[in-house]
Amino acid sequence: MNILLIDTHIHVMPPDMLRRLDQICAREPYFAAMASSPKARFVSHEEVLNAMRACEVTRAVIFGYAMEDQGLCREINDYVCEVTAESGGALIGFMVLNPAKKDFEAEFENCIARGLQGVGELFPEGQKFDLLGKDMSKLAGLCREAKVPLMIHVNEQLGHSYAGKTSIGPVQAWKFAKEHPGLNIVYPHLGGGLFFYELMREVARDLRSVWYDTAAVPFLYSASVYKVAKDVGAIERLLLGTDYPLLGYERYWAQLRQSGLLPADQAALCGENALRLLRREGDAPW
Ligand SMILES: [Zn+2]
Repeated sequence: MNILLIDTHIHVMPPDMLRRLDQICAREPYFAAMASSPKARFVSHEEVLNAMRACEVTRAVIFGYAMEDQGLCREINDYVCEVTAESGGALIGFMVLNPAKKDFEAEFENCIARGLQGVGELFPEGQKFDLLGKDMSKLAGLCREAKVPLMIHVNEQLGHSYAGKTSIGPVQAWKFAKEHPGLNIVYPHLGGGLFFYELMREVARDLRSVWYDTAAVPFLYSASVYKVAKDVGAIERLLLGTDYPLLGYERYWAQLRQSGLLPADQAALCGENALRLLRREGDAPW
């Protein structure tokens, strides 16, 4: 595709953790469930860079798998800090943390100081924290102050079940956004269908700074979903997120070709929207 391509949703795994997956699975039930899926694959940043190069993706947001254990989160973040700093701008790092743990604030400040540019993807149910509780309000405040987006996993509440599917969906996602107006929130997987409710004017007002990514959409929806997002007025806040290595780029290009979206809308979705969300003042041109 001959447009600016920015992928906002890629999971990486530090090579050292890759070597002790069994040990980690024994302590982290939600991660273990995801890892048990036949589709599960774990990659280091090198494989990500190769996949990006092959498809001319300019930049990508990478993060680990958010764990219950804050020590594991820290280990992942250290790796993400290191490899993003060495990537010459190709990789943008988000941090994972568990807001239910006492020391999450220190980890947040540390990661921001080391150049990470967002938080996520957090798993409220998997990490056992309350999306609508006071710890998340505190985290929302930190993100607002540091001017970084907060990415929280939510998923559709019907359809087939799969590893990683939780009971956190559009209702909780809307309530969280309503509690934190102006905060840039990214809801992966099209917000579990939350965008549809932007047809309700009073709900749309609460979702003005909510962004939706397309992670796993080829598994979940037919290609017309992009056109629906355009019709409800959400196309300017749609982000290309692949959930790589779960899915590669070809599946997304194939779906976009059938989506009925105009080239300008495809350009917005594939990179221009992400540029607006992620590019900071003083950054060199992307
Ligand atoms: Zn997710």
